[in-house]
Amino acid sequence: MRLLIAMMKHETNTFSPVPTPLARFGNGPGPLYGEAAIRAYRGTGTGLGAYLDLAARERAEIVLPIAASAPPSSPVEDAAYREITDCICNAAAKGGYDGIMLDLHGAMVTQSLDDGEGQFLKRLRAIVPDMPIAVALDMHANLYDEIVANATVVAGYRNYPHVDTYETARLAGEILLRTIRGEVRPVMAWGNVPMLPHVMRQGTDDRPNKELQHRCAAMAEEGALAASLFTGFPHADISNAGLSAVVVTDGDRELAERLRDELLDRAWVEREAFVYRIEPLRESVARARAMPAPPSGEGPVVLLDHYDNCASGGTMDTTAVLAEIMRQGLEDVAAFAIHDPQAVQQAIAAGIGAEVTLSIGGKIAMPSIPVESPALSVTGTVKTISNGHYRNRGPMARGLQMDMGPAVVLDTGAVEIVLISRHVEPSDLNCLLALGIDPMQKRYVMLKSRIHWRAGLGKVATAVVDCAGVGVCTSDYGQLRFKKVRRPIYPLDLPNR
Ligand SMILES: [Zn+2]
Repeated sequence: MRLLIAMMKHETNTFSPVPTPLARFGNGPGPLYGEAAIRAYRGTGTGLGAYLDLAARERAEIVLPIAASAPPSSPVEDAAYREITDCICNAAAKGGYDGIMLDLHGAMVTQSLDDGEGQFLKRLRAIVPDMPIAVALDMHANLYDEIVANATVVAGYRNYPHVDTYETARLAGEILLRTIRGEVRPVMAWGNVPMLPHVMRQGTDDRPNKELQHRCAAMAEEGALAASLFTGFPHADISNAGLSAVVVTDGDRELAERLRDELLDRAWVEREAFVYRIEPLRESVARARAMPAPPSGEGPVVLLDHYDNCASGGTMDTTAVLAEIMRQGLEDVAAFAIHDPQAVQQAIAAGIGAEVTLSIGGKIAMPSIPVESPALSVTGTVKTISNGHYRNRGPMARGLQMDMGPAVVLDTGAVEIVLISRHVEPSDLNCLLALGIDPMQKRYVMLKSRIHWRAGLGKVATAVVDCAGVGVCTSDYGQLRFKKVRRPIYPLDLPNR
């Protein structure tokens, strides 16, 4: 057997000012190709890791032209999209494969295309009209007809935080292998409903997504080869942003449609539970300040700076939440992180132990939202200087090498502020441990994250306080000027009935 395996992943926040050139793809200087990609992903708890394991089990020959994954940001530059998709399509055009396994995201927008994955799959399908194609997608996919119409099987994550990227690709890959062997003939039904579930309400530890995803899993007992509910990515001003579902069955279209309709109906009934209520920043921080100190070593109170999550397109350099924490005088705080390569270099130049005053953050303008993010002046001691490399301990993307670029810890006496040079969301304990910060020993930990922090740090938190700061992942949809998303759509327009 001969398999073509590839990865192209980007969640596009069309309101983000962070550029998305080819260099952003990869945990280093751009995408990985061929053997280098295989070496980086083999044995990891990722979608590509699962495809590689399946191929090894089948003793299949593999071609892996490219592994390209970038943290969320603005629409992908056309040249980068062309490079990545050309690389996969050129490999496919050489022929001689039994199947294609793709690890995609499903919410990629490019400078020219609203549906990056769908248009790519349409082009690929034209090259290999009869080839079985498996596609693993993120739960935040904004599904288009071209994605489903040009794939043989589509499966999405069931967990948010995404601790099941491996399992999702393994499911899609197993169905593909059964298709190649002639054991099943997949048919798919997909659809969407006009709703934009709030990202802060999409976690699968919580109602209603927990129950919806359980129902997806249970559909396997009723004949679904795969059933996926995509909560969608709302920070994308494209027609199909929002909630969708796809169900794969073995040749039974009527069943696929019935199960799809059930998922969409259940989600629509629960729409109000997907709405997020905002607490003013001053009140959140005051509430955290009033919390009794947990016994030493018990675990911190987590302060979520969720408007500026770089894993949703945030600049990671807004300072509103950190400034309020310092203004209200919270102590024994660690803050991860402010993205500011310039401040990092100033701290490195000063050296370990030096006292410096730095102007941090506020360097990237955010023209799509009506709020300014000023820089923050902080004085502290340079406590740690690091190359910013660490390996994920999991459960999310276990074993994957990460790179936050040159990084420093600036200690103000009350707050240890992490400054980094590449966007990394704090979803793994090692991002802090690698810098000598043990969150268990802190009273407060401020994280620029929304849900993924729960994967690595959820267990250590004694309490969580959501902090409404400033950023392009704003939880206040009133700040976003939607022009292209299909209307009416809940909760932007539709009354709750
Ligand atoms: Zn996602």
